[in-house]
Amino acid sequence: MSEVYADVIIEISHEKLDRSFQYSVLEELRDKLVIGSRVLIPFGNGNREIKGYCVGISDIPAIEPSRIKPLKAVLTAERSKEPEEQLVELAVWMKHHYGGTLIQSLKVVLPVKADIKQKEKRFIKLAVSLDEAKVFALECRQKHRAAMERLVLELIEFGETDYSLVRDKLNISMTTVRALENKGIIALDTKKLYRNPEGFEQGEVKHTLLTEDQQRIVDDFHKNLSMGLMQPCLLNGVTGSGKTEVYMEMIADVVKSGKQAIMLIPEIALTFQTVMRFMKRFGDRVSYLHSKLSAGERYDQFLRASRGEIDIMIGPRSALFTPFPRLGIIIIDEEHETSYKAENMPKYHARDVAIERARLAEAVVVMGSATPSVEASFRAMRGEYRLYELKKRISDNGLPMVYTVDMRAELEKGNRTIFSDKLYSLIEDRLQKKEQTILFINRRGMAGFVSCRKCGHVSKCPHCDVSLILHKNGKLVCHYCGYEEQFTHVCSECGSKYIGTMKAGTEQIEEAVKKSFPIAKVLRLDADTAKNKNDYSKILSSFSNGEADILVGTQMIVKGHDFPNVTLVGVLAADLSLYTNDYRAGERTFDLLTQAAGRAGRAEKSGEVVIQTYSPEHYAVAASAAQDYNKFYDEEIGFRKLCGYPPIEHMLKILIEDKNPDSAMKMGQILAGLGQKSSPEKIIGPAPDTLSKLKDVFRFTVYIKDSNYEKLVGIKDDCEQWRQSHPVGRTSVQFDFDP
Ligand code: ADP
Ligand code: ZN
Ligand code: ZN
Repeated sequence: MSEVYADVIIEISHEKLDRSFQYSVLEELRDKLVIGSRVLIPFGNGNREIKGYCVGISDIPAIEPSRIKPLKAVLTAERSKEPEEQLVELAVWMKHHYGGTLIQSLKVVLPVKADIKQKEKRFIKLAVSLDEAKVFALECRQKHRAAMERLVLELIEFGETDYSLVRDKLNISMTTVRALENKGIIALDTKKLYRNPEGFEQGEVKHTLLTEDQQRIVDDFHKNLSMGLMQPCLLNGVTGSGKTEVYMEMIADVVKSGKQAIMLIPEIALTFQTVMRFMKRFGDRVSYLHSKLSAGERYDQFLRASRGEIDIMIGPRSALFTPFPRLGIIIIDEEHETSYKAENMPKYHARDVAIERARLAEAVVVMGSATPSVEASFRAMRGEYRLYELKKRISDNGLPMVYTVDMRAELEKGNRTIFSDKLYSLIEDRLQKKEQTILFINRRGMAGFVSCRKCGHVSKCPHCDVSLILHKNGKLVCHYCGYEEQFTHVCSECGSKYIGTMKAGTEQIEEAVKKSFPIAKVLRLDADTAKNKNDYSKILSSFSNGEADILVGTQMIVKGHDFPNVTLVGVLAADLSLYTNDYRAGERTFDLLTQAAGRAGRAEKSGEVVIQTYSPEHYAVAASAAQDYNKFYDEEIGFRKLCGYPPIEHMLKILIEDKNPDSAMKMGQILAGLGQKSSPEKIIGPAPDTLSKLKDVFRFTVYIKDSNYEKLVGIKDDCEQWRQSHPVGRTSVQFDFDP
């Protein structure tokens, strides 16, 4: 009879997670023990009895077997109560679902313990009357003191404000704050740690009167909640349709019953305005996380949550793991955002993890977007999610007017500039009216695909329906299957010589704008000008302060920002993102174009949008021009069905990395062979990844498709098991489900 050993971690804190201890498992305990079980163990010299978690089971002793102590007990895994136990259960689920080690998952879900320097919280408030402040703000404007003006205006609107919020989200330096303090305009308050929620509540709590459409959704939500129906909901509402208002109402409903709420928003959309909107409504019961927090500050926020000092946590993906004792609702705003998918192992998607966490906590998940992901819509159509819709903007001027310009026709007319006649004349018009313009260059997929400027034809792989990539050796290569052909410099469709890779970047466009519109003040926002988050918000806020007429930028500019004076959005090369070799290309394009169009005419003035494209007939372009989500979805799901892509079928991507390409390839072949044993519907590869080499490391991929997700999980388990029993070399293997 062989022995069984359990690896146990004894304390949940960052430092000690790396270390597990082995215990032997007596026969009578073996049935009950699973990975993730809470166990009782003797620890240390005195054999003190403490609790731990089982993170691994094996039959190989790590040390001399006589020195291994026996496990005392397996604590029954009854319905978990403590948030920490729930999170461990969640980590076990994530390990199963996405692969990797349990430790990797635990590190994601558990709060990182770190030394907390109890920082004094600082608050800023006006030291003068509102009227005086308004006069002062006007003076700042005249003297072009943008930062001072911004801060004073925020204080006029929101009253007393947390300094760290001002620093992070308004980008106002301590120097500016001190200068205002010296002038006696503002006062800094450092004594109290947290504000008094009542004081906040007593402010003007303007309860927005919901529209009929909003109210209907809130009522239905309330009805289901009170009946204990916890079905996930998808709120599909156009930009500015009042989704946030609906979320707040739902949260209020849940909080009233003594439960807590997590509100996920993409990091980039986490603005001062968003946080203040929630604080205005819920006072000091709100906290937020963002990437600038130190580990200690983050832990501090989690501690407040577990102690019940707050009810609502706002933040990016990681806020999902806030240890609320009675979690009632998780909201995922901008559900389609790619930042909800983790880049490192475990490569989890916040949507699915939220649903699992909600299941454990008996909470409800609400997802919202103007352009829901195909996955989410598909599940809503199947009845897995409850679907709510908001089809109209709140403001009267409705959605912007959209013009699609066929750039092939412009070339025929002899217009070789990057601006169509339509866009050119509208920019001129805006400059005259002193209204602002955003020029958005869609640069996703710039990585070397080849297209014809005359007919729009793009060279594609005959086997995979993805675009071929031009390599330096003059070959067009498919990164999915390895297919190659010689690049001929002539369009295979129309014979034109105007064929090549697109090179127009933001810099060239900025130059072109300056040349065509010499009077315009231009700002540029891309990875070069915004090397860090500070630059990024600096550029955005100076544009929003009216310091430029035209903002040129990549997809960084289309997310979540409100520029009331922007009435024109020009989309250059709308179709670039269609030809990435990724089955989500159509979806990304539709999202980008729709969100970009949504930037125009957000306030009183109505907006116009010009979409310049070589493929106006492509459904992703046409549907976004028509702002018709359903039309897009119907076409897209048809395409996914035809090709067997997620969400119709599931896909497991195995990424193999090694400095030695032969070792990587060999590992790929072994893993593909293991996959073959379970006879899934399709295996592709191993083949070089889209990014075939990164920092001298060669990357290969194996794609496995099957309609049964669990079968893919089984293949992942087989691969991991094989790797454990064959520890060879430095080859790294990562799993990605429905990449
Ligand atoms: P979304 O989240 O869908 O983009 P918001 O909730 O931000 O939309 O609403 C857009 C704008 O309309 C906001 O300025 C918001 O304050 C306002 N708004 C939302 N609902 C109402 C309402 N029922 N009555 C008046 N204004 C509203
Ligand atoms: Zn051609
Ligand atoms: Zn191919």
